[in-house]
Amino acid sequence: MSRLRTHTSEVILAFVVICTALTSFQQPSSAQQPAPPALPYSPSLDPGSMDRSIDPCVDFYQYACGGWKKNNPIPSDQTSWSVYGKLHEDNLKFLRTILEQAARATARDTVTREIGDFYAACMDETTVNARGVAAIRPTLDAIASLGNIRALAALLARLQIDTGSRQMVFAVGSEQDPDDSEQQIAQLDQGGLGLPDRDYYTNTDAKSVETRARYVQHVQKVLELIGDSSESAKTNADAIMKIETDLARASLTRVDRRDPYKTKHKMKRAELKALAPAFDWDRYFRELGAPKFEVVNVSAPEFFKAVNAQLGSTGVAEWRSYLRFHAANVDAPYLSSAFVQEDFDFYRAYLRGAKEMQPRWKRCVQLVDRGLGEALGQVYVRDVFGPDLKQSTVDMVKGIEAAMEQRINGLDWMSAETKRQALVKLHGIRNKIGYPEKWRDYGPVDIGKSDFLGNVRHATAFESRRDLQKIGKPVDHGEWGMSPPTVNAYYDPQMNDINFPAGVLQPPLYDAKLDAAPNYGDTGGMIGHELTHGFDDEGRQFDAKGNLADWWTAEDAQRFKDRAQCVADQYAQYVVVDDIHINSKLTLGEDVADLGGEILAFIAWKDATKGKDLKPIDGLTPEQRFFVGFAQWDCANERPEDMRVRALTDPHSPSRYRINGVVVNMPEFAAAFSCKGSQPMVKPANTICKIW
Ligand SMILES: [Zn+2]
Repeated sequence: MSRLRTHTSEVILAFVVICTALTSFQQPSSAQQPAPPALPYSPSLDPGSMDRSIDPCVDFYQYACGGWKKNNPIPSDQTSWSVYGKLHEDNLKFLRTILEQAARATARDTVTREIGDFYAACMDETTVNARGVAAIRPTLDAIASLGNIRALAALLARLQIDTGSRQMVFAVGSEQDPDDSEQQIAQLDQGGLGLPDRDYYTNTDAKSVETRARYVQHVQKVLELIGDSSESAKTNADAIMKIETDLARASLTRVDRRDPYKTKHKMKRAELKALAPAFDWDRYFRELGAPKFEVVNVSAPEFFKAVNAQLGSTGVAEWRSYLRFHAANVDAPYLSSAFVQEDFDFYRAYLRGAKEMQPRWKRCVQLVDRGLGEALGQVYVRDVFGPDLKQSTVDMVKGIEAAMEQRINGLDWMSAETKRQALVKLHGIRNKIGYPEKWRDYGPVDIGKSDFLGNVRHATAFESRRDLQKIGKPVDHGEWGMSPPTVNAYYDPQMNDINFPAGVLQPPLYDAKLDAAPNYGDTGGMIGHELTHGFDDEGRQFDAKGNLADWWTAEDAQRFKDRAQCVADQYAQYVVVDDIHINSKLTLGEDVADLGGEILAFIAWKDATKGKDLKPIDGLTPEQRFFVGFAQWDCANERPEDMRVRALTDPHSPSRYRINGVVVNMPEFAAAFSCKGSQPMVKPANTICKIW
């Protein structure tokens, strides 16, 4: 439910990052710090990024972004390039300076030492290369000593804690109880795959067949790197592919997983044992160090039945191969150059089209953010997110919420009864802006200057354990799921909160130097997007407290579904790449949020500037500036390989349609550019999708 896919999708933690040990926020002392670096400035509406030779009524995205696309070719180390991606990159450069200073400084506070040493160890490629495969030898030895299937439980628990990876057969953690959002319960989820989606294993088109063959080669290569002969690596890779294919077949699709009822299967421990008796669950949970619990949500029971069947039918030698491969595959980015290269060659070059590896410093900055995000974030917000910026974005959020209230009250298709409930939900939304009020304490994480893999493991295990320790505890509403430097935002339906990290409130997105029109078009639209997620086809199924509870009358629910179908039908026509269309059942929530968000932003902007005499600037009327500002949030260049991966995995539509698909449903757009009824950016009035 974020505005954007994550930039580091290969390195997502399986566990949601949560705080249990918290310290109060203290402004770090700045007395002995060198002057902070500055983020480069570019405006949130840049006329130079437009292509005014294009008719906005024919292709608005190209009109607003044509110049940007021409001036911003995809850098060779990127899989795509966009306004968000560029800001992410600017942030990395900024954070690099902070981290280099932190690594060098002699008198350091705790936070500076943690992030400085983590970064220094990551940058020490010589030491990493000298250790080579020895760095994961203890893990490989533990796997090699697996003597029987029953002993798998204890081994798997340790591997999952240390790697935080979903790739180790399945995923475990805590989650909010879907029926009691104030309570955390245990959760088991599907996983176990090395390819980015279960569909890669089941699709029968030529490209999918090729990708599977290429993946098996990758598995083989990784096994060779940890010491298998070429012949046994080949045999083992085939066995691993068989295990993964069986797991994939039993996995829910991404579309299924958007239905919260399809992932809700709360059961007693005894029922779990009956579901998958071949696995030693008691030993497993003991080894995880999980608190005692009675109820677990098994999000995909069929998957665990398949795991159980495989435990009976697959030999222990094959399981050892499977675990050895995944252990090395997950850790490959933190090992010596040969591993890093193979990881890049398959996941970023072959699958996503990158031409060269990101320089080491970029990878290291991102790993510090991932491992110690709220330590790095403290330093970041101190330098880039002052009280004025916080206040102005808080005000804008309030304006967008007021627009939503106005909009709900005015809906002609919704009954008074459902409207009342919708307003209760709207008023129940928590706004989280910039950074957490309490920072996570990384004190228990052992971080040294010379053990890169060790640091990654310790930070990951710390998060794994903290997530598990929440089982049985009340929910902490102050927690964030993104670090402050993150250039992204999200809505969480179970928390019923909207979250805007400081990183997404910077130019060229939020721009205090510019007029209101592009700011509302861009950041106002983003706030409206997250707010609308509370009321999209998925989010609407949760109530004000975040419980899975139906607050709609049957008639209103049907009217909503009809309106959502209008959006789904529209986006299903759009092509992602070659002959692949948008899977609009996967993107529906985001498409609805894009449309709702921009409508709310327009209302809020009109309200905020009521009675003001707004003048044209750079040859654009205020209304035109609103829409160009909107479009320029998502100017992008995309590689075909990356688009193929995203067609299967990304719930967001491609950039062009996130702009053009929205404006065709807004008569305010056609009016702003005097578009005629027969032009592509104008839908006949009776076919406009009206939802929120
Ligand atoms: Zn979203």
